[in-house]
Amino acid sequence: MQIAMYEQKQVSLHEEFPKFTSREAAVDQIKKRGQKRAYTCPFCEEFLTLRAGSTNEPHFAHVRGKSCLMSQSYEQYEKQIKRESSKHSVIRDVIFDDLSTQGKYKPDLKVEHGYQAKLNESWKIVPDIVVKKGSKQFGISILTNVHQKGDENLVKLIRKRQKYFKEKDLDVIWFVEDRELSVDLTHRVLYLWESEILLTNKTSWDSKWDNLIHELSDNNTYPLYEVFNYNNYGGKELAYDVCSLYYVNSIQDEITFSVYRMILDELQSPYRAFAVSTGYNIQLSEALVIEDQLRLANDELEERHMELFKSNFAKALDDMMQEYREPYVSQHVEKPAPLPSRPKVQQKTLKKIQEELKVVHWDDGTVTYLINRLKRGNITEEDAVKLEYYLRHNRELVVFKGWELRDIQAMASAALGRIEDPKVRVHLIEIEDL
Ligand SMILES: [Zn+2]
Repeated sequence: MQIAMYEQKQVSLHEEFPKFTSREAAVDQIKKRGQKRAYTCPFCEEFLTLRAGSTNEPHFAHVRGKSCLMSQSYEQYEKQIKRESSKHSVIRDVIFDDLSTQGKYKPDLKVEHGYQAKLNESWKIVPDIVVKKGSKQFGISILTNVHQKGDENLVKLIRKRQKYFKEKDLDVIWFVEDRELSVDLTHRVLYLWESEILLTNKTSWDSKWDNLIHELSDNNTYPLYEVFNYNNYGGKELAYDVCSLYYVNSIQDEITFSVYRMILDELQSPYRAFAVSTGYNIQLSEALVIEDQLRLANDELEERHMELFKSNFAKALDDMMQEYREPYVSQHVEKPAPLPSRPKVQQKTLKKIQEELKVVHWDDGTVTYLINRLKRGNITEEDAVKLEYYLRHNRELVVFKGWELRDIQAMASAALGRIEDPKVRVHLIEIEDL
């Protein structure tokens, strides 16, 4: 293995080698120290010597090959983290120390390295840290070097690990080193690697977001992505299932977390997600509070993001309605009733949005007028446009006003038998197909 106790401190060969003038000098010196019993095993306190042959990487080994179980477990873990950047162990150790400190004050909390916690069960893959709280336990895994080069291999590796943890029935929270983050908030889009998609988590705050999004989308005619001007190229409805990505960044010993909540959209390259929240940083002390899970959120900021989301939604919806409404205003003045005046939208609550949707552009008189025109089969192009538009965006209101959509569609079919003007027909066909 790469580590040993030396002068009462844990050292690692990666850090020790650069302290010497050359590799040869390092091997020579460390070998000598080892022969004189300067290095011991951090786990069993047996003496360690340096092995540096031509084939194997230099490593510490127990004298007479009496390797202890814990060091074997650690060696396996060393192989597992070989792909990681030097930031990996820094981030892991800061998280480990912080959680361990909490463990001192919470008697039911136990924080261990993955290779320690799963030693007796001989797990082939371990999370970096295992937290046990009462009868519950979860793992924490940190991934660095998440980038396109090797994304395919990394994807395989992540899938394999996730499958393994699932088989072992262990929930694992994933942290991703944040240099890969790519977010475009004007289009509310996050660009991701496939590996990042695999590393999304589902936490209790994500479920709260699910509720909000369902509430907003169930009560409105416009899909969420349309209101927020998000390009969903597939044209398909987004599955309203919020998940989160936790990025972690280390600058020297300072660690910051940032949380991004999103709805996954394109599941092939370019991988995209609809950015639900604009992301924010969480301090270590807030992120790592252990409740049933890690808190990983700032409750106050999260509430504020939700409020912002609601008011952005209301504002965008209002702008949309305004845009659709304007072309008809001037042509509409001679019609029976005037348009309702537009209420102020700033800081609108959800309830108000829903109420406003019920007074969309036309009053009952206009809709009745349009439907009667259709029924008689002498509807003009302009009226056909309006009726199609109205039906498309206010389906549930039609029912509310006492019509069934299918009855109106039957009227459209009948009218198609009589009306020859292609400009009118095109809208009647649209109505039929709604
Ligand atoms: Zn040992």
